[in-house]
Amino acid sequence: LSDQAPLIGQWNNMTQQTIILDADDTLLDLKYPMCEKLNKYTGRSISCDQWNSFNITDIYGGLDIEDFYSLIINEKLLVNAVPYEGSKATLETLKEKGYKIVIISSRAYHPEAYEVTKQWFDEHELPYDRIHISGNGIKKSIYSNIYDNIVLTVDDNLENCEDFNNNCKVENVLLMNQPWNAQNQSFQRVSTIQEILNYL
Ligand SMILES: [Mg+2]
Repeated sequence: LSDQAPLIGQWNNMTQQTIILDADDTLLDLKYPMCEKLNKYTGRSISCDQWNSFNITDIYGGLDIEDFYSLIINEKLLVNAVPYEGSKATLETLKEKGYKIVIISSRAYHPEAYEVTKQWFDEHELPYDRIHISGNGIKKSIYSNIYDNIVLTVDDNLENCEDFNNNCKVENVLLMNQPWNAQNQSFQRVSTIQEILNYL
């Protein structure tokens, strides 16, 4: 956890309302470039609209998880990802309204996850207050729980929504519509990042 923000200090204003946001396939498009590379790598032609499970490696016939992560890293999919339309404007609106924006991304498989993520947000001029990297057995709630006053979170991974629901005090846990969570009916859904503003 050496790359993580200190857990106490002046930056953590306990009274400020906090929004916790996922990155991949919530604020930025990863699925389309990933699908293209996966199809090329495996010789298949599966549309990502058919990805009906978060376990993409299963969809690609039991692709080794380390090969999958290597593909993401070597093809620089995180570096080259494009923000969703509306991500920048939505984050700017949240800042203007005085919210603390916390990004938690499960990118711990990447050896430079924090640096790559921070650089990406800075390059695209997407405002935020803190970035945390989860994954490798560290749930998002571990980081969420250092914040008080969390009013909203949004994530495309159902397991993360369940983690927030079970282990954190969050007013609104929202599920970002994606093919791999289409069957779930437990959470309020949004189809675009702008829609989270309706919940504040
Ligand atoms: Mg995601």
